[in-house]
Amino acid sequence: MGRLIEMPAALGRWSRAYSKSHAFREVLQLPKMELTKLVFPLQELQRHLHPDARSDLHLRVFDPSLEDIARAEGFFTATPRNRIEYLSSAVRLDHAPGLPRPEVCFIGRSNVGKSSLIKALFSLAPEVEVRVSKTPGHTKKMNFFKVGKYFTLVDMPGYGYRAPEDFVDMVETYLKERKNLLRTFLLVDSVAGIQKADNIAIEMCEEFALPYVMVLTKIDKSSTGHLLKQVLEIQKFVATKTQGCFPQLFPVSAVTYSGIHLLRCFIATITGNLKTN
Ligand code: GDP
Repeated sequence: MGRLIEMPAALGRWSRAYSKSHAFREVLQLPKMELTKLVFPLQELQRHLHPDARSDLHLRVFDPSLEDIARAEGFFTATPRNRIEYLSSAVRLDHAPGLPRPEVCFIGRSNVGKSSLIKALFSLAPEVEVRVSKTPGHTKKMNFFKVGKYFTLVDMPGYGYRAPEDFVDMVETYLKERKNLLRTFLLVDSVAGIQKADNIAIEMCEEFALPYVMVLTKIDKSSTGHLLKQVLEIQKFVATKTQGCFPQLFPVSAVTYSGIHLLRCFIATITGNLKTN
C-alpha cells in the first residue's frame, strides 16, 4: 500500500444534479470528474495510484465508449415493446423456465448486496419487483427475470450464513447443467473481500469451467484506500488462482449507482445484443 497516494474517500458524494431516475442522459450532464467516478469507478481509483503502479489495474479489458453505454441503457429500459418482468421462481432446475434467450446469473453470499444490485440494474423498469431482504438468507429460490427479447437474468439464492440446505444442490446443478447460461456474476463484498463462502462459489465456477465475472459490491462503504487495496488483491487472486474469471473487476454501489451503467453495458455486450466499438 506504500505506493498509494492518500486521498480522502471521494466515492459516494455525487452531484445533487444527478436525480433519482439514474438515466444516462443525466449522467452525461455531470462534470467530467463526477461522471468518471460514477461510470468508470476503476478509472477513478486509478487516479489515486502512484503513476508507477497505474498499469496494475486492469481497467481497459472492457472499455466501452459513453455512446455504447448510452445504447446499452435501452435494453434495460422498460417500454411496451421491451417488457422487463419477473418470470418465475424455481427451487429445482427442472422447474426453471425454458431456454429461448441467453441467460446471466448473479450469485453471492447472503447480504452481499445481490438484491440491491439487481434492483439498481432494473431501476429503469421500476415495475419489476426485486425483493430486498432485511434479514439475511431470504432468497431461497432461483428467480428468473426476462429482459425483453434479449436475455434472462437469474437471481440465485444467497449462500453462507443461513443458506438453504439444498443450496449447493440447486446452484451446482444450475451452474453445471443450464445450457443457455452465458456468464455468472459472482458478487464479493468490497469491504470484506473474498470470504470462505465465496471460495466455494469460485471453486464451483472453476470446476465447471464457467466464464464468470467478479463484481465488488457496496463500494460507497469503503474509503478509496481500502477499496484500492481490495481491488488490487482480488485482481491478483483472479490472475494467479483462477482460469475462468474475467480479469477486469466490476466495482459497484447500489446506493450511488457507481458502476451500474458500465455493468449494464457489459451484460448487453456479452449476451450478444450490443456491439461495442
Ligand atoms: P442480498 O442478501 O445479497 O440480496 O443483499 P441485499 O441487497 O438485501 O443487501 C444487504 C444489505 O446491504 C442491505 O441492508 C442493503 O441495504 C445493504 N446494501 C446493499 N447494497 C449496498 C450498497 O451498494 N451500498 C450500501 N451502503 N449498502 C448496500
